[in-house]
Amino acid sequence: MSEDNFPSGKLANDGLPPLRDVIATHDLSAQKKFGQNFLFDLNLTGRIARAAAPLDDATVIEIGPGPGGLTRALLFNGAKNLTVIERDPRCQPVLAQISNHYPGALHVIDGDALEVDVTTLGPAPRKIVANLPYNVGTQLLLNWLMQIDQFASLTLMFQKEVAERVVAKPKSKAYGRLSVICQYLCDCDILFDVHRSAFTPPPKVTSAVVQLRPKADRGTQINLASLAKITQAAFGQRRKMLRASLKSLNINVGRLLESTGIVETARAEELSVEDFVLLTDCYSRLSASEDKQ
Ligand code: SAM
Repeated sequence: MSEDNFPSGKLANDGLPPLRDVIATHDLSAQKKFGQNFLFDLNLTGRIARAAAPLDDATVIEIGPGPGGLTRALLFNGAKNLTVIERDPRCQPVLAQISNHYPGALHVIDGDALEVDVTTLGPAPRKIVANLPYNVGTQLLLNWLMQIDQFASLTLMFQKEVAERVVAKPKSKAYGRLSVICQYLCDCDILFDVHRSAFTPPPKVTSAVVQLRPKADRGTQINLASLAKITQAAFGQRRKMLRASLKSLNINVGRLLESTGIVETARAEELSVEDFVLLTDCYSRLSASEDKQ
């Protein structure tokens, strides 16, 4: 059996109805506009939940619980303070049923995760665990990264292509803005792949579970907004040399690159994460000195 297929034998019995019955009873046919691809395999949802362990001492946050497969696994595996945010109102009765089954442990927010400041949902340590809707997954991740010190870990299911961008190394096709920002802030690992057949309906591509854990010491402290701006400029025109791609920063690019020791003819994908950190640090100093003049 391959790594991404799971036995469908005896599963953890949480006393709630099987997920397929829940979907049928509540008529929860998956809707594309909500990015819905549901997981029914409790072995798989259990595996994702356990990857984020321990859960009992943390504020656990799940985005997009849908019919509650992963939610139930998180609760079954010990989460005592779990908040879920779901945009599809059809899921609310099902989530209420789960909440009644685990009194006091599950809090449900009916809303858009892009508009919720998840750091207000409970004290640290905070862990986000989610099978993310593909249409807003990357944006949510970028939002959380901008305040990463608020979290103990992010355990997230993405399309494999996005997961590969998170962990990509320089000089690879997948290496880009997301790789640099994620790897500056966090230790990042792909934990396992999940075959498309595990979802209902199956998406077009393979998925993967990624875990990001904030680094205790990330060396040079830099301005994240500047890192985001520089990586956007550099990778926005990734085939161009830096002396051209960084022009949009409205700074003396020659001076900037000279102060870093990075050659003007280098391209974004050749730079290491450390190079981008140095570039950002020098950019902040140079901007400050140009502002003074
Ligand atoms: N967690 C469930 C599972 O694993 O079976 C469902 C995962 S499905 C890929 C994504 C879920 O996110 C859907 O239930 C969808 O309705 C919800 N969703 C989509 N956009 C959202 C948003 N902006 N905020 C909160 N939930 C959202």
